[in-house]
Amino acid sequence: MGTIVDAEEARNLSLFRPLGYQRNSCGYCKSDDGSASYYTSSVAVRPVHYEELVNRGWRRSGTLYYKQNLQRSCCPHYTMRLEASAFKPRKDQRKAINRWNKFILGPEYIRRAAYLCPKSRAEKRLRKQNFDVLDVVHETEYSNVKRPLDPKTKKLLEPAHRFEVNIEGDSISQAKFDLFLKYQTTVHKEDVSKWQTKDFKRFLCSGIKRSPANPQSSEKKLGSYHQCYRLDGKLIAVAVLDLMPNGISSVYIFYDPAYEQWEFGKLSALREIALASEGGYKYYYMGYYIHSCQKMRYKGSFKPQYILDPESQTWDPLDGELSQKLDKRPYVSLSHDRRLSETATQDTPQATDADAEINDEDVSLFDLHMPGVLTLEQVQALDLDHWLLLVHGTFVHMIDLVGWEAMPMDNPQSVKGIIAELAAVLGPEVRKESAVVLFD
Ligand SMILES: [Zn+2]
Repeated sequence: MGTIVDAEEARNLSLFRPLGYQRNSCGYCKSDDGSASYYTSSVAVRPVHYEELVNRGWRRSGTLYYKQNLQRSCCPHYTMRLEASAFKPRKDQRKAINRWNKFILGPEYIRRAAYLCPKSRAEKRLRKQNFDVLDVVHETEYSNVKRPLDPKTKKLLEPAHRFEVNIEGDSISQAKFDLFLKYQTTVHKEDVSKWQTKDFKRFLCSGIKRSPANPQSSEKKLGSYHQCYRLDGKLIAVAVLDLMPNGISSVYIFYDPAYEQWEFGKLSALREIALASEGGYKYYYMGYYIHSCQKMRYKGSFKPQYILDPESQTWDPLDGELSQKLDKRPYVSLSHDRRLSETATQDTPQATDADAEINDEDVSLFDLHMPGVLTLEQVQALDLDHWLLLVHGTFVHMIDLVGWEAMPMDNPQSVKGIIAELAAVLGPEVRKESAVVLFD
């Protein structure tokens, strides 16, 4: 058998190892099997593909990729995003960053700088009326702080703290791991004896494929990165970010608990929105939004915020109709509601009642009518026969598998059933440019 994929093509493929549909305990309401998701693992997903997946409701935790069945989960996880250039900071968000900047500079610096390099009245007025997130986020980074010669001391005027932020690959270091353990113990009250460096590495240092190879290059950064915050040379916070062609997805943040009072959640979100704006990434994704979870409500305060419709995969404003409906029921698809009201007759089949009786782990994904997933008919229309399969380091076509043609697509236990379910949840675009890992 000759090579069916050359090296260049192989590099451009994302690889997926299907794990299938499972019910699991819910971390939010603590129900035993309240959450249902489709899972796949991968060590090689391209940012362009990950973006496509995120816009279909997927998310990753380390090398595990999943898409929840919002209709059959106790606490539905809605994908949310905002447009960085449209973002309007709220008063408490502006206050958080101003407070931090004041702490960095310190009262002595602020007093002397006002005397040595005073701002003009016009500058001050402009600043008051026009809060520019980009300016405010960057102004106390050490390289941007004005350090005039102070004639009184004959020395350069130094701020109280040297604050630096840089973005680097998502590699592991002892300093990052130590900081992570400190954060999990203090902020999340977690018993960290079970955390080993390899778990940390899998969770936060094995993201989507990174480019360009040289991080100093001016080319647009794509892939998984760590944004590291250093104060007086010491690492105090790490934000884990997935940079995609048209958006930045916030994965996780951990920080030194000694700085908890500075509201790193707000500071990092503002910084990441600024990064999206100046880096040309357009959208900022704050991760899933769970309406019933009080701790997540703060995400909605970064406005204007949009929510992915689980069925039509279009975006609706969180405020207004959607938010009101979410107060009343956990699963909402505005496109579904609109369709219903257009075709409203008393004999509209209520599929959900009958579906609720199905034990979802026993049946094919296609019988569950999971929102945002291709139907069996739609998958049949794809060319699965020529989808690539990676077997012991070699690519073959599905059709090369013995017995492939006779396998039933709607049997979740058959190889073809497993492959078809993966294609249905990935969607047609990612399916085209990916390969499946199954037997290795
Ligand atoms: Zn729950």
